[in-house]
Amino acid sequence: MDKQATQNSPLATLHSVFGFRSFRPLQEQIINGLIGGGDAFVLMPTGGGKSLCYQLPALHRPGVAIVVSPLISLMKDQVDSLRANGVAAALYNSSLGESESRQVLAELHGGKLDLLYVAPERLMSEAFLARLAELPVALFAVDEAHCVSQWGHDFRPEYVQLGRLRQLFPQVPLIAMTATADRQTREDIRQRLGLLKAPCYVAGFDRPNIRYTVVEKQKPFNQLQLFLAGHRDEAGIVYALSRKRVEEVAGRLQQAGFSAAAYHAGLPDAERRRVQDAFQRDDLRIVVATVAFGMGIDKPNVRFVVHYDLPKNIESYYQETGRAGRDGLPAEALLLFGYGDIAVVRSLIESGSNQEQNRIELQKLNAMTGFAEASTCRRRVLLGYFGERPAEDCGNCDLCLDPPQRFDATDAARKALSCVYRVGERFGIGHVIDVLRGSQNQRIGELKHDRLSTYGIGRDLSQHDWGSIIRQLVHLGYLEQDLASYGVLRLTAAARPLLRGEQQLELARPRVKAAAPAKTAKKRRGELDYDEGIFQALRVLRKRLADTEQVPPFVVFSDATLAEMSAYCPTSEAALLRINGVGERKLERYGAQFLAVIRGMAPKQAQGTDDLSDTLRETLRLYGEGLDIEAIAAGRGLTATTVSGHLEELIKAGAAVELGRLVTAEKIAQIEARLVALGGDGPLKAIKEGVPDTISYEEIRLVRAAKS
Ligand code: ADP
Ligand code: ZN
Repeated sequence: MDKQATQNSPLATLHSVFGFRSFRPLQEQIINGLIGGGDAFVLMPTGGGKSLCYQLPALHRPGVAIVVSPLISLMKDQVDSLRANGVAAALYNSSLGESESRQVLAELHGGKLDLLYVAPERLMSEAFLARLAELPVALFAVDEAHCVSQWGHDFRPEYVQLGRLRQLFPQVPLIAMTATADRQTREDIRQRLGLLKAPCYVAGFDRPNIRYTVVEKQKPFNQLQLFLAGHRDEAGIVYALSRKRVEEVAGRLQQAGFSAAAYHAGLPDAERRRVQDAFQRDDLRIVVATVAFGMGIDKPNVRFVVHYDLPKNIESYYQETGRAGRDGLPAEALLLFGYGDIAVVRSLIESGSNQEQNRIELQKLNAMTGFAEASTCRRRVLLGYFGERPAEDCGNCDLCLDPPQRFDATDAARKALSCVYRVGERFGIGHVIDVLRGSQNQRIGELKHDRLSTYGIGRDLSQHDWGSIIRQLVHLGYLEQDLASYGVLRLTAAARPLLRGEQQLELARPRVKAAAPAKTAKKRRGELDYDEGIFQALRVLRKRLADTEQVPPFVVFSDATLAEMSAYCPTSEAALLRINGVGERKLERYGAQFLAVIRGMAPKQAQGTDDLSDTLRETLRLYGEGLDIEAIAAGRGLTATTVSGHLEELIKAGAAVELGRLVTAEKIAQIEARLVALGGDGPLKAIKEGVPDTISYEEIRLVRAAKS
């Protein structure tokens, strides 16, 4: 790309190079700001589309854009993706051999590069800075900018040096990007990178395409299997708390025939790389991992994230679930929430030596538990934690989709509270329920708890119901559960009015089953109704092309793009170019092969006319009114050849165009005979040579379109 884009508008470049229809929120402002020479500090959730914010301006400013990124694997994917779109991108880091390095530097000095991805320590070496001083630099982009801050969760000392960029190159726009939410880190980044005066772009933290579901943990492995059964062929991550658990779950999944592997910090580097690579390339479907897995994952089509165990805090949960659905298509976040896990995480936290730190972490754990136990919209709770107040319930979490029914629980609550009191506030949930339900176990006998006035007063409800009621009482603050001492239940002051009958109470009705794991069998992705068969066929083609070119499949096309293709079934190049994610370069490179699959599979009658451009639609309308080619051409001020071309496209797209109205029966027969003689099809010229001169090229094309 020789910056020919410079003449065009950013929107034109968005269409032609990246193949996207429109900008996402904030992208346009950020891009215009940079093109105009300004700096930017960008806070956007994962999947928000940060890369485009510097990639597009790089094509609209003279010189090379220098991009700093912490991970070699991320750089490589970005460079591959850019090249697939015809952008001159390269990387310069320790993964290159000597001759490769020399070549990249030669391209750099020859002005051949639009973007260069550089590791921070390379960039800040005196030698490299000296090179840059002699070159036009379009902009600097610092990805994962939180790595510069010690407040952040991923501090990298080599990032600190980047603070000098602002002084060394005062004329060059600098953009720093991160998905880190917390305020302290934010301020620290801006200060360290010299961006205190730069405009700040903060995107909302909502990820509307992620469906949050919390299910009470019962038989977690069975629950997981059930969930996975609804996600055939989809990629996902299962997070577990310990290495041991990771190994165990991964092993059982493999035994059950799933494509799954374990990933944690205790594995050899080579194995971790293998897992990450295979996942990235769609060769491995499920990664079972500790939190160690994630930073290097840039896979846009992760369809689900399951938390097998309770995350320690909402920040981690948000970040981990955020790895799902970066492509904007529907994705699932499932949390298996077990009360036992609270105690496990708690003791993990308490084993830390810094008391103050422990106290903070325990509070964060409380917030996490609150999220899991919530009986109002999950997204409200989640966003509320980050300081956002959505105006409405989200409609895309388990509680919105299947709201708990409420019931008058005054009587049940009184029974439970008085039973806690009668057993002396010295027992946990299990024992209290046994007493309520009049269980005859040995322990009750030994403790003489069968003589208590509350013994057996709750036989009308199941163990599961009582469990739910008591947990809600804890959550609402009528009971305290001392997690440090075996979960003993105690009354709080708030319990008194209830016990004395001075207060009514409504609770959420316990769910009958352990909440159906999120609905599955999607034929829908977002608002699209698409053909699953075509989608799978396109996936196979994509995988084959990706393997040949040794890139991850998403570099060829994203799932979102394949879903659109299988919904609209474009059968011409023009129609394919209108699909989101198909730019000019990819059309040239892959268009024919994808069109062939679509043409081969798309049922003619199902090919709607939704996908047609306005001009085709107008021709179709006039044709439908009984006009012939000449008349349509005259009416629209077009040439007959153009209108004939329209009708040809319409026939290919399966629109109701009757060939017999356009070409005489005799000519159709002559053309068809010629096609047969040529073995079905052939170059236009060859067909024309074998038919009478009265038959035009246009007529041949129309007949041929109807045959294909
Ligand atoms: P981030 O770096 O913020 O996590 P990416 O830059 O990787 O996000 O973008 C996430 C996904 O969204 C990518 O698949 C990208 O191609 C796609 N994307 C970005 N901008 C647009 C847009 N304007 N229209 C459609 N898709 C987009
Ligand atoms: Zn909701």
